[in-house]
Amino acid sequence: MTAVDASGRVVQLDRTAFYATGGGQPHDTGTLAGIPVVDVRKDGGNTWHTLGGDDPLPSAGDAVHGELDWERRHALMRTHTALHVLCGVIWKEWGKAVTGGNMEPLSARMDFEFDPLPEGFGRRVEELVNAELAAARPIAVSFLPRGTAVMDEDLIRTKVNMIPESVSEIRVIDIIGLDKQADGGTHVHSTAEVGRIRVLKTESKGRGNKRVRLQVIDN
Ligand SMILES: [Zn+2]
Repeated sequence: MTAVDASGRVVQLDRTAFYATGGGQPHDTGTLAGIPVVDVRKDGGNTWHTLGGDDPLPSAGDAVHGELDWERRHALMRTHTALHVLCGVIWKEWGKAVTGGNMEPLSARMDFEFDPLPEGFGRRVEELVNAELAAARPIAVSFLPRGTAVMDEDLIRTKVNMIPESVSEIRVIDIIGLDKQADGGTHVHSTAEVGRIRVLKTESKGRGNKRVRLQVIDN
């Protein structure tokens, strides 16, 4: 990797393995030239790595070695896939769409259009999600031309139309047979790699907006 610009405590590289915050998934951490990476953001076509500490930054043109905190990244991949499984299960079983969410490594919340939540929902959804995780469904990543993507029923349901018109190729995450979404995030290869989930809490966030809090745990 090569630092092509450095100002303040931020560095831009000609290419990067670091995931920048976006699509509901938080950024990666790790090191660049041995200096901790504390934030990664995308601005237009550029990815900016914010470095911590006060060690001198690499200069423009330097070759820079980067290392990802793989434990955090893998936890985020498992969590992200778990949330897509949750969306798929809730759509299949109750026909309710997602309204928002947030994830951290191995913990997350997600809001759905329920009003009210069905009786015994927390236990039931945990059971259904864990069954889908144990089924080891493969996860496929593909790219579709925008014109094809906007005609796809599953992608319409998961709001493919919200993607800016300027994006001509849509990245699709398909948990085969369960859930298909336009998505820029990182995922595991099989639902079995997630482990299990535990529903910690369900809460009402108002009319037509009910929140599920979950934890991702090992098998
Ligand atoms: Zn996603």
